[in-house]
Order: sequence, then structure tokens, then C-alpha cells
Amino acid sequence: MSPTRDELIQWDRQHVWHPFTPHSVYADEAPLMVVAGEGNELIDVDGNRYLDGVSSLWCNVFGHRHPKIDAAVRAQLDQIAHATLLGNATAPSAELAYRLTQVAPDALTRVFFSDNGSTAVESALKIALQYWQQADGGDQAQRKRFITLTEAYHGDTVGAVSLGGIDLFHERYGGLLFDTIKAPAPHCYRCPLGRERATCGLACIEEMEALIAEHGPTLAGVFMEPAVQGAAGMIMHPPEYLERVARATKEAGALLILDEVAVGFGRSGETLFACQQAGVSPDLLCVAKGLTGGYLPVAATLATEAIFQAFLGPPEEGRTFFHGHTYTGNALGAAAALATLDLFEEQNVLAVLPTKVRALREALTTIADHPHVGEIRQWGMMVGIELVANRETKESFPSKERRGMDICRRARAHGVFLRPLGDVIILMPPLSITFDQIQQLVGSIRMSLADAFDEESS
Ligand code: PMP
Repeated sequence: MSPTRDELIQWDRQHVWHPFTPHSVYADEAPLMVVAGEGNELIDVDGNRYLDGVSSLWCNVFGHRHPKIDAAVRAQLDQIAHATLLGNATAPSAELAYRLTQVAPDALTRVFFSDNGSTAVESALKIALQYWQQADGGDQAQRKRFITLTEAYHGDTVGAVSLGGIDLFHERYGGLLFDTIKAPAPHCYRCPLGRERATCGLACIEEMEALIAEHGPTLAGVFMEPAVQGAAGMIMHPPEYLERVARATKEAGALLILDEVAVGFGRSGETLFACQQAGVSPDLLCVAKGLTGGYLPVAATLATEAIFQAFLGPPEEGRTFFHGHTYTGNALGAAAALATLDLFEEQNVLAVLPTKVRALREALTTIADHPHVGEIRQWGMMVGIELVANRETKESFPSKERRGMDICRRARAHGVFLRPLGDVIILMPPLSITFDQIQQLVGSIRMSLADAFDEESS
């Protein structure tokens, strides 16, 4: 017998420990009990439909239950669900590795599979460190340090947390972490260097370049998200930032390691990977989330041939990358990823996307003047709407008021599911969002802002 609606809700409340969720208020914040999905919508246990405005945490690309991805997973199920990649191969993972190297920047020829964004980052970290011990006879083994950005987020495993810089998420684990060199995030709305945008002279880039030059000989790599720092609240970098960082990193002889877990797979609006917009080819590239269309946990760390070659040698020399997970390159997930890459090609997604990006930008102008909207940041299909108590001073609301969550909760009444980052409302819809749904998405914010703040002033 299937459980009843009330049993499900009760079991969830009593037994599920939800990630990134303060349980003292969880039940009051009207969590959905999702039972199904269709297209860009989630369907809850009562049959209500909600536009999935954050792509089920930034991973869904072509909607839920897409016939082509569903069919690919079903067909793979008729072959095998999973077999190991440890010293062994599977057909879908071999095909996926080939296809990824065809669409990634040219220099990336090798694919190390893992399960999620954090493990893709963790793999990149360890590959980079080991690479320097083994490259060129190991005479650069002193290269052990990483430059990262303030406010960075690269996942929740301990290595990824070490690279991170969001105090609320990371500070408590200090005792477990290794030290990294922090460069100021290029956050123009709240400049960490205290500059005004019009006259800043891109001091953040200069500081990053100076740090790279200063630490050059001991630097293993610069590790960052290109273009947009998602979990930091959609911090969007000046367009020239990545290219200049890439140049400085190369001059210092260090590795450029890009985390495209969030910004990859078309989110940046024009290219499959954000780094391709800047013409930058990293040494290591981490991808996850959208790789399987948002279906299954498969991730990958792509590497250059030079990096891979440093791991070769007689087995007894121990140059092997001794790292990997049970479900690495899972066959069902790889099948979903192959179908996802097919859809990008068949539907010419990247050519159509700029029109949707423009429609979203235009729709957002309807809330830009709201007295509590401090800034709207958009890059492709990624948007952060920062709520402030005071537009002039950029003063934030007290965090205990949970304003971002309040607006997102209200948006449910208008048929949209959202999840904020503090007081930044995130819009990260599936790339398959329709033009009508773009209006619905922004309209739900407009109405929720009105509901929240009109109530207050009346
Ligand atoms: N890197 C970035 C940039 C991310 O946004 C995330 C997750 N939001 C991760 C890494 C970690 O991915 P996962 O949650 O799949 O471990």
C-alpha cells in the first residue's frame, strides 16, 4: 500500500534531516512535498503545480520528464544500471567522455568522472597537487597553494570548503581546513575594496594579478568560478576579469582551475561553458549539475593532456591518481548526460537562448525600481535580485527577518517555486522555460514584493 499524504509529510518532518535547512522553522516555511514533475513544473502531493524557478537547485536543463532523457535512461536500464570504472570501462561513460571533450575547450582531452559538484572540485584539487609533484621530474613540488576568491563556494566536502569563503557556511569547519590565498571577489555592488564602480579602475583585477605574481612559484593554481559566483548571491564579474586572471595565471606557470558546476551547460546564455565566452581554456574544468540535464548525480573534472601525462609511469612508481568513488561515471547518469548533449545540438539551444535571456532582462525591468530591490544582477539565465532595507545606503535587512525566504514563500501562492540565498532571490530557471513562464516567474516576484511590502506599509 502506498503511504498517504499525511504519512509522507509526517515521516518527512520526523525523519529527514534536510540540507542547508534550519529545522526550527522548516515546517513553517511551507515546504513542498513533490511527487512528480512535468516540463518546467513541479507537482506536489496535493496536485498543485509550481514553475521550477531554480531548476531543482540549478541542475535541471530541459524540464522534468523530458521524453528524450527519460527514454535514454530507460534504454540504459535495459542494458545495465551501473558497473565500475575502476580499472574497467563502460560504454556510456566512454561515449560521454568523448562527447565532452568535443564540446569543451580544445585543450581538455581527459575526463575524470565523479558524482557531484563537490567531488568534481575535490578531484581537481588533488589532481593539481599531485600533478606538481610529478610534472617535470617533480621539481615544482613546492607548488601547493591555491588562490581563491572571497565569498567563494565550491561545495561541502572538506577540500571544497577550504576553497570556500562564505563564513556562514564555512567558518565552523576551520579546524579541518587548509589555508588558501584569498583574492577580493569582484563584487561591484558591495566592493570588498570599498571602491565606487565608476572610478574603481578595476582594482580587484589588479589585486588578483598582484597576488598571482607574488605567490607565483608556490602556486598550484587559481581556483574560481568563471563569470558568476553563484552561491555567493550571484556575484557577476566584470567581463575582462576571467581573461586577465587566465593570462596572469599562465605567466606565473600555475594551473587555472575553473568550477563550472553552476555556470556550465548553457546557463551563461551564449556558450555551453562560461569560459568559452571569454575565450579562456582552463587546465582543469569541473562540471556537474546540468551535465545530466538535472537527472542523476554524475560529475566530471576535465583535464589537459599535459596534466594526464604526469600521472603515467610504471605502476610501482605510484604516479596513479589514487582517487575515485563507487558510482563514478554511473551508466544511467551517463546515458542521461548523452541525451542532454544531444538535446543541446538538436534543439540548437545556444542559438535560441539569447532571445530568452533578453525577455528575462526586459521582464526584470518591471521590478528594478522597487524601493527594496537594491540591485538586479543577470548573466544569461542566472539572476540575483538583492533585497535591501534602504536603496540609498544599500543597508541590508536584519538576517533574522529572512526577507528573501519570505518573498520566495509568497511566490508559491503565485505558482512559482524559488529558493533564495539570504536576501538575494535567485532565478535560475530551466533553459526550456517558455516566454510565458518568464513572465510568470518575474510576475510572481513582482506580486510577492507588493504583498510583502504593501502589507507592511498599510
Ligand atoms: N561548485 C559550485 C559553483 C556550486 O554552485 C556547487 C553547488 N551549488 C558546488 C560546487 C557543489 O556541487 P554539489 O552540491 O553537487 O556537490
